[in-house]
Amino acid sequence: MQQTPTSPTLITPDASIANATHGGRAKCLQRLVRLELPVPRTVALPFDMVHRIAAGQMPDMKGLLQHFDAQPLLCVRPSSEDPDWGGPGAVLNVGMNDALFADLCDRIGEEAATAVYIRFVQGYSINVARLDPDLFDDLVVEGREGLRQVLAAYQEETEEPFPQDPGVQLAGVLRSMARAWEGTTARLLRQAKGAPADAGLGLVVQEMALGLGKGVCGSGVIQLVSSATGRPKITGRYRSQSQGREALKKEGSSIYLARDPRGSSLEDLAPEAFADLIRYTRLMRKRLKAEMQTEFTIENGRVHVLDGVRVRRSSRAAVRIAVALANDGIITPEEAILRVEPRAVTEMLHRQVDPEAPRHVIAKGIAASPGAASGRIVFTSAAAQAAAARDESCVLIRRETTPEDIRGMHASAAVLTERGGITSHAAVIARGLGLPCVVGASELKFNLRRNTVTTADGQTLKEGDVITIDGTNGEVILGSAPLHEAAHDGAFQQLMAWADEFRDIGVRANADTPADALIARKFEAQGIGLCRTEHMFFEPGRLTVMREMIFAAEAEDRRAALDQLLPMQRADFVELFRIMQGHPVCIRLLDPPLHEFLPTNRDGMRSLAEALDRPMSDVTRRIEELAEHNPMLGLRGVRLGINMPEIYDMQARAIFEAVLEASREGASVVPEIMIPLVSAKREVELVKSRVEAVAAEVRTASNQRFDYRLGVMVETPRAALRAGEIAPHVSFLSFGTNDLTQMTYGLSRDDAGRFMKTYVQEGVFAEDPFHTLDVDGVGELLQTGAERGRDARKDLVLSICGEHGGNPESIAFCRQAGFDYVSCSPFRVPVARLAAAQLAV
Ligand code: PEP
Ligand code: MG
Repeated sequence: MQQTPTSPTLITPDASIANATHGGRAKCLQRLVRLELPVPRTVALPFDMVHRIAAGQMPDMKGLLQHFDAQPLLCVRPSSEDPDWGGPGAVLNVGMNDALFADLCDRIGEEAATAVYIRFVQGYSINVARLDPDLFDDLVVEGREGLRQVLAAYQEETEEPFPQDPGVQLAGVLRSMARAWEGTTARLLRQAKGAPADAGLGLVVQEMALGLGKGVCGSGVIQLVSSATGRPKITGRYRSQSQGREALKKEGSSIYLARDPRGSSLEDLAPEAFADLIRYTRLMRKRLKAEMQTEFTIENGRVHVLDGVRVRRSSRAAVRIAVALANDGIITPEEAILRVEPRAVTEMLHRQVDPEAPRHVIAKGIAASPGAASGRIVFTSAAAQAAAARDESCVLIRRETTPEDIRGMHASAAVLTERGGITSHAAVIARGLGLPCVVGASELKFNLRRNTVTTADGQTLKEGDVITIDGTNGEVILGSAPLHEAAHDGAFQQLMAWADEFRDIGVRANADTPADALIARKFEAQGIGLCRTEHMFFEPGRLTVMREMIFAAEAEDRRAALDQLLPMQRADFVELFRIMQGHPVCIRLLDPPLHEFLPTNRDGMRSLAEALDRPMSDVTRRIEELAEHNPMLGLRGVRLGINMPEIYDMQARAIFEAVLEASREGASVVPEIMIPLVSAKREVELVKSRVEAVAAEVRTASNQRFDYRLGVMVETPRAALRAGEIAPHVSFLSFGTNDLTQMTYGLSRDDAGRFMKTYVQEGVFAEDPFHTLDVDGVGELLQTGAERGRDARKDLVLSICGEHGGNPESIAFCRQAGFDYVSCSPFRVPVARLAAAQLAV
C-alpha cells in the first residue's frame, strides 16, 4: 500500500512524488529532473500537508529550509492535480530581508535589489498580512527611500517590524496560499471546471533563479509550435532583467525568442542559451510525450528550467499536435485519438469566406468568434427573432450586447458590435453558441434612431441590407460572400482515418437534401441514416401540388396529384443515390401531419384558393378539418400511410424507379425504406404488403431486379415494448429518440422549452432530455426494444437517428447496447466518428 506522504519531499529522480498526492506541477518537475534538465532545487508539499497548513498546523520550517542553500530566495507555486483547476498565484522572492538585500546590492546592483525587496514587501503585506492595498497608494515605491517607506508602512499597520526570518516569511506564504485554495469562491470556480469538492492542493517551493544582475539575465517562456495552428513555430517571449512571468506582460519591452525581422531576439543576444532552450523543449516533447511550453530564467547566461506546462492550444492546434506526435512515433495513433476532445472537432468545422473570392470589406473589427455567415442586417434582438421566425438569415448589429440580447443572438446567423473586446459579452456568448462574431468595429458609425450604419467611406447601410461577417478575420463584407464549407486539413483527415480504423460502431448522417448529402459524404458518413422526405415537398413548385393532393376528396384525385409529385420525388432520390455512391440511404416515408403543409394566415389561404381555383370557404373548411389538438399524436406517420395509402405507394414507386435509374449509371443501390411512428405490428404488415406490391409492379414493368430493405422507426414506447413481434417483419429498427423522448415523458418537444430551464435548475431533470439521452427511462426502452428485436431476429440491424445520435454519451450507450450505427446531422459526423473511436481504443 502506498504510504500517505506527510512531509515535504525534495524532488529527486527517485523521490516518491505522484499526481494524486503532490499535484501535476510537482510530478512534472520530477520528470524534468529525471531528464536531467537544469531545474533549481525544488521541494514538494503534498495535499494532506497543505490541508493541515490551512488549518493552522505548520510543518517544521527549519527542516523544510534545510533542503536549500544557506540563504536562498524562494518561490512558492501551486500544484493541483489537474493544472486546469487553477490555484493561488505564485509568490516570488520569499526570504528577502535586510541581510540578503545588502548581498543582492553587490550581486545585481542597488536599483534591481531595491525593486525586488519593495515588490516582495508589498506582495507579502497584501497577500499574507492581509493589509489594505491602498496602504501603498501614496508612497514613493522606488529606490532606498521607497524601501524605507514601505517597511515603515508595514510596521505601522501591523505593529511589528517586517519579518526578517525566512522561516517566518515562508510559513506565512504557505498558510495564505493553502487558505486561498480552501476559500468558497476558489472551490466553486474549480468545481465548475470539473474538480471534485475535496480536490487537494500541493505546493512546490523552489529556489529562485534570479533573472536579474550581471551578464545575460532575464526570464521568459518558449514553445515550439503555434498555439493557434499547431504548426511548428518557435514562439514565446523573453525579457531581460525580469522574473516570473513578467515577460508576458503587455507593458515593458519583451523581445522575440528566435531571430525576427521585427526586432531583437534572444537568439541574437544569447545564442547558446537559445539553443539550450530549444534542445530542452524538444527533449520534453519527446520524453513527456506532449507539446510543452518551457518556463525559464537565464542567470548570467545560464538557463534554468522552472517549469513545463502543456502548450495552450486551439482545437485546430490540438488535432495537429496530436497527429504530429503520433507521426513522429512519440505516441500511438490510439493515444492521439484520445487526446482530442470530440466537441473540439466541431469548432474546426465552421464555414469560412472563400479566400480567393473578391471581397468588399466595409469595416474591420476584432475577430471574436470564428466562422462566417451572411444575412440581412437587423438592429434589435426582437427583429432578429422575427427574422428567424420567417426562416430568414440575419446579422444582429448592436452597439454592444447585454444579457437581454441572448435570444436575439440565438436567432441570428452572426453578430457585429461597435464596441467591446475579445472577452466582451457578445464575444463570449457568440463563441459559446458557435456564431461568427466581430466586435469593436468602431470605424462604423451607428445611428440607432434611424437604424443605419455608415462606413468609413460614407456608405450607409440600413435594416434588410445583406452583409457577411467573417469572424475568423474580423472583417465585415458587403453582400453575401461565397463561403467555403468547413476546412478539414491533412491532420484532421489523418486523425479521422485513425478513428475509423478503431471504431466499432457505424456513423451515418441525417440528410434530407442533396446539399446535406454532399456534406455527409465530405465528412465520410457511411450512409444516410434518416432522410426526412417531407422536406422535399416544401421546395418551390411542389407545395401547391402537395396541397392539391391534400385537398383531393377521393383516392382517385389524390393519385392524380401524387402522379405529378412522383417524378419530382424520383429525381430527388436519384440525386441522393448518386451522391451517396452506393452507400446505404434510409428513406423515411412521409411523417408529419398534413396540416403542416397548409398555410396558417388569411393571405396564404387566399393565394391557395387562387392556386387551386376553389372558393375560399373550401380552403378554410379543409384546413379546419385537418387541424389537430395535439398534432404530434394525431394523424401522422404510418397512420397517414394507412389512411391514405396512395402517398406511400407513390413514395415507394419513386424510390424503386430511382434505384433503377441510378443503377443504370453504375452505383448499385439497395435502398432502405423506413416506416415512421409505428406502434403496432399490423401497421407494419399493411405497409409492407403494399410496398411489396409496388416493388413487384416496378419489377414487372421494367423487367429488372432490385433489392430493398424495409424497417421500422421506433418512436413510440409501444413499438419498443413490442419490438419482438415487429422485428420478424423487417430487417432494421431505427430508434427515433426525439419522438421517443417526447412520448416517454409525455412532453411536447415543441413546447418543452417554456419550462425546461426551470426543470433543469430545480434538478427535476439532470439535463434537457432532448439534448442528452435519458439513459434511465428512454434508455431502458432502447435497451428493451433492442433486446426483444434481436431475440426475434438475429440479423436485425439496430440504429439511432434522433438528435442524440451525435452526442458522445449517447453513442457510448448505443454501442453498449449492441447497435450497428448512429445517425446524426452532417456536421456532427466527425464528432461522432471520433467519440466512437475513443470508446473502442
Ligand atoms: C425522431 O423522432 O427521433 C426522429 C428522428 O424523427 P423526427 O425528428 O423527424 O420526428
Ligand atoms: Mg420522429
